[in-house]
Amino acid sequence: MDNIPISSEILNLFSTWADHFKNKLTETGVPGLIQKYKDIVDNVNNQKCPHGNDYQNCCGISYEYYNDISVRTALQILIDNLSDKESNQIIQEINSIDLIHKKLIIDNPVNYGKEYHLKKHKWWENLLPMGVVE
Ligand SMILES: [Zn+2]
Repeated sequence: MDNIPISSEILNLFSTWADHFKNKLTETGVPGLIQKYKDIVDNVNNQKCPHGNDYQNCCGISYEYYNDISVRTALQILIDNLSDKESNQIIQEINSIDLIHKKLIIDNPVNYGKEYHLKKHKWWENLLPMGVVE
């Protein structure tokens, strides 16, 4: 992936986001966001908490998951605001992660009949994946 410099214009897109997020974005750039998204989806898929706790008592609680998955929202903000070339790069890079993520949501029995949510713009904000509890 070509380097996408984190300009002040990009940081301005996240002016309301927490400082620790902006610092991390400045430090690790777009590849860091993509890696974080991959790690979160891997953790859901494997029911694995990186803090060493029982998944459903830590990262697998809905508010923790929604907090973590805001990284996908951040990627969407970049996709919606960067040049077509840069956006397409990001879309390509995260496509395989999105597919696994969507499947985890589709396979979650509590979501049966709610598939229309997956057609929405920010589909990851509406439904929980398998293994994440309310
Ligand atoms: Zn955890």
